[in-house]
Amino acid sequence: MSKTLTIAFGDGIGPEIMDSTLKILQHSEANIKLDTIEVGKKIYEQGFNSGLMPSAWESLNNSRVLLKAPITTPQGGGYKSLNVTLRKKLGLFANIRPVSSFFPFIATKFPKMDVVIIRENEEDLYAGIEHRQTEQTFQCLKLVTKKGCEKIIRYAFEYALANGRKKVTCFSKDNIMKMTDGLFHNTFNEIAKDYPQIQTDHYIIDIGCARLSSKPEIFDVIVTMNLYGDIISDIAAEISGSVGLAGSANIGSDYAMFEAIHGSAPDIANKDIANPTGLLNATIMMLVHINQSETANLIRNALYKTIEEGIHTPDIYNEKTSRKKVGTQDFTDQIIKNLGKKPENLPLANYQNHQKSTINNSSTIEKSLSNKSLIGFDLFIDWQESFEDLMAFLKKMESEKFELKMISSMGLLLWPLIDKHSFPNFNKGLIILRFIGKGISGKSSNDIINPNIKINNSEIIAMLKYLDDQKIEFVKYEGLYLFDNKPAYSSSQGE
Ligand code: NAD
Repeated sequence: MSKTLTIAFGDGIGPEIMDSTLKILQHSEANIKLDTIEVGKKIYEQGFNSGLMPSAWESLNNSRVLLKAPITTPQGGGYKSLNVTLRKKLGLFANIRPVSSFFPFIATKFPKMDVVIIRENEEDLYAGIEHRQTEQTFQCLKLVTKKGCEKIIRYAFEYALANGRKKVTCFSKDNIMKMTDGLFHNTFNEIAKDYPQIQTDHYIIDIGCARLSSKPEIFDVIVTMNLYGDIISDIAAEISGSVGLAGSANIGSDYAMFEAIHGSAPDIANKDIANPTGLLNATIMMLVHINQSETANLIRNALYKTIEEGIHTPDIYNEKTSRKKVGTQDFTDQIIKNLGKKPENLPLANYQNHQKSTINNSSTIEKSLSNKSLIGFDLFIDWQESFEDLMAFLKKMESEKFELKMISSMGLLLWPLIDKHSFPNFNKGLIILRFIGKGISGKSSNDIINPNIKINNSEIIAMLKYLDDQKIEFVKYEGLYLFDNKPAYSSSQGE
């Protein structure tokens, strides 16, 4: 029985590369039926701020597989990214982005590059929760869950096993973001113990990027958080020859979406010069996903044969290794001509024995719930007076329940200053006052001396009421908790 696929033509170069892909699928006699949905710019302009017609969900529920060309997300104006909406609503937690070089046929400095980037796809800064809090300050929340880290990291190890990969590398920035990125790195270390046959290592994202762009051959599988994964997969594709080459699979328990990693490239739209290889590589992954591996082999061999022949779109054309510069349509026709032929130098496709990577939704790391207790709160205030005025107010402030432990601005400690000679770098605007229940902490807010003293929400509300009566303009409250008697909040620089 033929498999129904939902397809979306997208914006910019989207329709051109989708036409190319569908033509190749048709000639390869893929056993598929197509159901087209409208997404992207036109739909945004009709007032659907997620870029998707509500009716599209029906098609997706039916097919469970979406092949999507890139779309243009309008900037600002309350528009939400369609890609992020789809990934979240369909539970597509894993974004798999293989990148390998086509040396010597496509110019690259890295002939041995063959890396798979596995990007967490639902969390991190991509929750898109942003606020303006004061005249000067804007925030974006970085949200990371234990379950989310565990799911993607386990998937990366399962992917390595299923695909004969030897090493999984973790990229994070846990030297700075000790709680969020720290969770990702620690989870990686925990899960790695279940896969002793796979080598592991870890890089801080900055040096990781530097190494990836100078020695990509040292990496095999990289697992990382959403934003870092987005950035490094473009770097990887670009240094392999062109950002137009790589495809991606977005995988969840019930749905899957396949797309090129690049965007809608409006600068080259309707010029018949876009490279359809990224979308075609995504299509090959999709065919494997829907168990049509023979067709996946057929198309990949024809694509590689065409690249070997030196028939190249302008983005990969170079005088040394290319034979003919062609447009999107001629490139497509050449691939169709090559269906049934095999590459002589580039690797032969071999998807028939492909094993699917296991998705494990159950948490195996930590079974018991932690003991959580409220001990105080951080109050984010919009302070437009001088630092001296703030100190004068706080000196007068009275509370039976709470003590002020710290004042900070943008993570920098303003009070109490350890070094009396240093002058606080005070800027009006967002200031954080840290209040902790009396007697709970010692010198600093992280030095817990009596975790058994309890604070409740009513006491915090009473304190907020008192501060409100004193005309303190607060913009945000954040509870401070102990988890298993350990402080679960950051300290300030200099605390
Ligand atoms: P882009 O990836 O569209 O283009 C970056 C550069 O690479 C451009 O010079 C472009 O011409 C070139 N390029 C990209 N794909 C190519 C291809 N297949 N062949 C030849 N050259 C190619 O990135 P951008 O310009 O930053 O973004 C354009 C739009 O795409 C934005 O609205 C952005 O939000 C959107 N976008 C969508 C997706 C998606 O739908 N998955 C992903 C990223 C960006």
